[in-house]
Amino acid sequence: MAAKGDMVYAWSTNEDMLAKGECGGAVTALLKYALESKMVDGVLTVKKGVDLYDAQPVFITDPADIAKAAGSLHCGTLLLPKLIKKYFNGAKDMKIAITLKGCDAMAMYELAKRNQINLDNVLMIGLNCGGSVEPGMAREMIEKKYGVNPDDVHKEEIDKGQFIIEYEGGEKGIAMDELEEEGYGRRLNCQRCKLKIPRQTDLACGNWGVIGPKAGKATFVEVCSDKGAELLNKAEKAQAIATEPPIPKGLEIRGKIEKSMFRLADKARAHQFGALGDGEARLKFILDETSRCIKCYQCIENCPICYCEECSTKKSHLVAHGQVPPPFMFHLIRYSHIADSCINCGQCQELCAMDIPNSLFMHALQVEMEKMFGFTPGINMDLPVLALVEEKTERARLSSTGTDQIFNIFK
Ligand code: FAD
Ligand code: SF4
Ligand code: SF4
Ligand code: SF4
Ligand code: SF4
Repeated sequence: MAAKGDMVYAWSTNEDMLAKGECGGAVTALLKYALESKMVDGVLTVKKGVDLYDAQPVFITDPADIAKAAGSLHCGTLLLPKLIKKYFNGAKDMKIAITLKGCDAMAMYELAKRNQINLDNVLMIGLNCGGSVEPGMAREMIEKKYGVNPDDVHKEEIDKGQFIIEYEGGEKGIAMDELEEEGYGRRLNCQRCKLKIPRQTDLACGNWGVIGPKAGKATFVEVCSDKGAELLNKAEKAQAIATEPPIPKGLEIRGKIEKSMFRLADKARAHQFGALGDGEARLKFILDETSRCIKCYQCIENCPICYCEECSTKKSHLVAHGQVPPPFMFHLIRYSHIADSCINCGQCQELCAMDIPNSLFMHALQVEMEKMFGFTPGINMDLPVLALVEEKTERARLSSTGTDQIFNIFK
């Protein structure tokens, strides 16, 4: 019997899922079992749309449909949690299982601590994540760097540091490092991301650390909660999955890969944040870039931290109506409301109509604020620092001390 903290290799006992799954189909089998056994009412996950560059969110209630979503879509840059808030009443009146990359997992917690999602009703299946590739750029990269028509590609994967494609007549892999040096490869926010194994979910699943006869045919599952242990144990008892202990060397390799991904992310942060400049130079850069804004609201619409019914950016006394580009206050409001909790999911940049590097600006701020206040978003239910400021107490302190450094009270 597995318990919280245990790690196993797991795979589906069903031949079809074994074949269709990315690494043995354990995740698909677990989701199917969760639906069949009525642990959940539905599964929110991602399926291939018209082609592999078209990842679509899908809500499945019939267990027979789960296998259609098997496999990993590395051009699937969606963020699922806000859909639970928007379309499923925050899982307040139904039980939902969901697949979550690291950024999805962080978004779940930031929404949950703001009472926008009821985590008690969510079964979180985490997916380790080395990164995802923006779909439009993937097509361009495959055409220009691989010399292959992107429409001929029927499978892509990221393995051993390479982006590999299978297409009519062959297979080709190019090192991510090489691709990223030339401006291709993983999204910029993914290059900066340090949430590689989402341990704040119920089960963290991935291929890192699966070696020996099971390599490529099983998923490494880290049991992160009692709820995760219950699902794994029940699914195994019902013979939906089979498990075996991990090979110790595999464990060691998994740890080393995770550490090396952290080092890469630190390097990317230093490089990308460094390019923004400091102080006034950074402000000027942000002012220049945001001057392209057409106020399409996609950044707000897709940010998991933006959920307010009456957004301040729409109030004319704060942001004058009818101006494009909007006054800089539009962006300042977002920086001040979001920066401490930004989870670096990249949505506000990827979906920006004017390609403004919003996520880069916000993440750069978040990292600075984390250094100042020690608050890390997305990893647990802790509230951000500013949420802890009680106005009356703070006003009294200000008038008695005369200082406007409200943040000092937390030191
Ligand atoms: P399957 O049975 O194939 O089920 C996979 C489930 O994931 C399906 O339900 C599918 O709908 C869902 N899914 C597919 N794409 C997405 C997506 N983009 N977002 C959310 N859900 C999705 N593991 C590592 O160890 N190292 C990595 O670097 C790594 N990078 C990954 C990057 C991405 C973008 C994704 C999606 C996964 C990554 N994984 C990584 C996890 C790994 O690829 C497998 O998903 C995992 O091992 C489970 O395999 P399986 O056969 O049990 O899953
Ligand atoms: Fe994966 Fe992190 Fe990129 Fe999200 S931000 S897709 S978790 S690498
Ligand atoms: Fe994601 Fe951008 Fe919101 Fe940060 S500000 S959480 S990167 S959408
Ligand atoms: Fe709420 Fe501020 Fe985001 Fe508007 S910008 S939705 S007010 S957090
Ligand atoms: Fe402006 Fe881009 Fe946000 Fe649209 S998504 S409002 S263009 S910053």
